[in-house]
Amino acid sequence: MSDTLPPCPECNSSFTYEMDALLICPECGHEWSASGDADAPAEVRDAVGNVLNDGDTVTVIKDLKVKGSSSVVKVGTKVRGIRLVDGDHDIDCKVPGIGQMGLKSQFVKKVSE
Ligand SMILES: [Zn+2]
Repeated sequence: MSDTLPPCPECNSSFTYEMDALLICPECGHEWSASGDADAPAEVRDAVGNVLNDGDTVTVIKDLKVKGSSSVVKVGTKVRGIRLVDGDHDIDCKVPGIGQMGLKSQFVKKVSE
C-alpha cells in the first residue's frame, strides 16, 4: 500500500481520500475504485473483448429489462455516443425509445461505423 493517492481523474485534484475500496475527490465529488493499477486507465471491454471508448456506438446483445419500468432494451438496439463510467453498469448512454440509462459492457458489442 502506498500513501500517495492518485489525483482525481475528473478534475486532477490531489486532495483525494480513501473510503473503503473507493477513492473520493472532495473537489468535484467524483468517486472511483482504488483497486487495480492506478497508473493505467481501466479498460472497458465489450462482450467479445473490444476496448470501448467514449463516443463509441454499440449494439445490445441480449434483451435487457429496464430497472423500475416495464420497458425492455431489445437485442440489436443500437446505442450511439456511449460514455464510460465507473461502477457496476459501466456504460452511461441514451437508449433510443428508453432514455438515459446505464448498461453493462458485457451485454453490448462495439459497432464500427
Ligand atoms: Zn475531482
